[in-house]
Amino acid sequence: MNALTHTPATAPQIAQLVAQQRDFFRRNGTQTLDFRLAQLRKLRQLIVEHEAELIAAIHADFGKSKYETQLTEILPLLGEINLALKKLKKWIKPTKVKTNILNFPAKSYLVPEPLGVALVIGAWNFPYNLSLIPTVGSMAAGNTTIIKPSELPAATSRIMARLINDNFEPHYLRVVEGGIPETTALLQQRYDKIFFTGSPKVGKIVNQAAAPHLTNVTLELGGKNPAIFTKDCSLPVAVKRMIWGKFLNAGQLCITTDYALVHRDIKAEFLRLAVAEIEKSNFSPENHNLVQIINERNFDRVVGLIDPEKVHYGGRYSRAERLIYPTILTDVSTEDAIMQEEIFGPLLPVLEFDTLDEAFALIQGFEKPLSAYLFSNDAHSKERFLREVPFGNGGINEAVMQNSNPDLPFGGVGNSGMGSYHGEYSFKCFSHYKAVMEKTPVIETNLKYYGYTEQKIKLFKKLM
Ligand code: NAD
Repeated sequence: MNALTHTPATAPQIAQLVAQQRDFFRRNGTQTLDFRLAQLRKLRQLIVEHEAELIAAIHADFGKSKYETQLTEILPLLGEINLALKKLKKWIKPTKVKTNILNFPAKSYLVPEPLGVALVIGAWNFPYNLSLIPTVGSMAAGNTTIIKPSELPAATSRIMARLINDNFEPHYLRVVEGGIPETTALLQQRYDKIFFTGSPKVGKIVNQAAAPHLTNVTLELGGKNPAIFTKDCSLPVAVKRMIWGKFLNAGQLCITTDYALVHRDIKAEFLRLAVAEIEKSNFSPENHNLVQIINERNFDRVVGLIDPEKVHYGGRYSRAERLIYPTILTDVSTEDAIMQEEIFGPLLPVLEFDTLDEAFALIQGFEKPLSAYLFSNDAHSKERFLREVPFGNGGINEAVMQNSNPDLPFGGVGNSGMGSYHGEYSFKCFSHYKAVMEKTPVIETNLKYYGYTEQKIKLFKKLM
């Protein structure tokens, strides 16, 4: 077993690893289609063969059920690998673009090239999904990759390190385990791409570390995601869809509804339906639909956001089991503690509004969210939502599921991130597109050459 498999990597080991990967990349080790496909197939095989262990590890970390792990981790990951295997031959081909008349006769095209050595830093809440799906994009694009999974789910970090480090060459693909010291040491090196998933606070640290090298950075961050319910919405189905997304992974989901903004006239019915939906779902670990809060620090932080006087439903928790049951809070104002930070837990504050102007103004009082949702049947409200509410990705009459369509780029905007991935967007995220114009040496025009006249400029004006 390699020395880097389990032990935290030291700064000199990390420097050596990056140098090895850069050397392998420069020797064109990753360039061919066959190499990339073979590596992706190997990764797929590892996941399929070790699925039971992967499921057990995440269950040990925070009690996630087999079903939810399959649904939100394994299947999306295999889906991304399968898509890359199917489409890579097409993705790596140059793409033709039009050539303007000024340059006639010529052809113009875009040639994707891998960036080089990539660093992927993952968050803890979907540990396989968030560390390995970007890695699939990096591998497909032809980079070498160092993966730094979150240290908080220790068993999942360990199994990713074991499977990858025992089966891939370190000069191509390597997991480096660890927390802040190891990530800090990793960030001291120069990369050609850094892909980070986590909080805006750490995103800024990553961006600063990348700046001296002008390294290309993608930041997948978080924020306070609103879900708006207009008076005319199809309330039963709207509440059902929002509640499922809200309490998935116990609300530890970057694109979950952080708070609901409900039209005053339907608030009572909204609350009745929301409570009924929660009761029907019967959230509990035994029912495979309630995961633990990742650690005691986060447990205390989330419980600290519950104002007992504002609990409309729920408010139950167990520190010993690190469980917080779905909770709805009402009469919440933007001044309350729960509205000062991303909740990242199973608490749903419900705020009310009278006009869309009021709802949008409230949303705009926060940083740009990662996601926003509108539940409405009114065309004008939909159009205004799309025009006036800034967000990275979102839904109309749906929540969370936009993440499961690989034809939609997944990413944030402003404080919730920059760049996007999934499907072909992952390949693009880890590639540079060389823009090329190619001409034949046979045909030559004299227009651009010195000896300018008014007539030439007139002709230029027409052509440009
Ligand atoms: P985090 O920012 O605390 O940690 C993310 C990664 O950064 C981890 O690998 C961690 O080891 C490392 N890290 C932490 N502190 C560091 C430091 N000081 N210096 C260098 N590295 C450091 O985030 P988290 O708690 O793992 O995840 C929760 C956050 O991530 C939420 O804000 C959530 O919205 C966001 N998130 C975003 C997405 C997305 O796709 N946009 C997905 C999941 C989570």
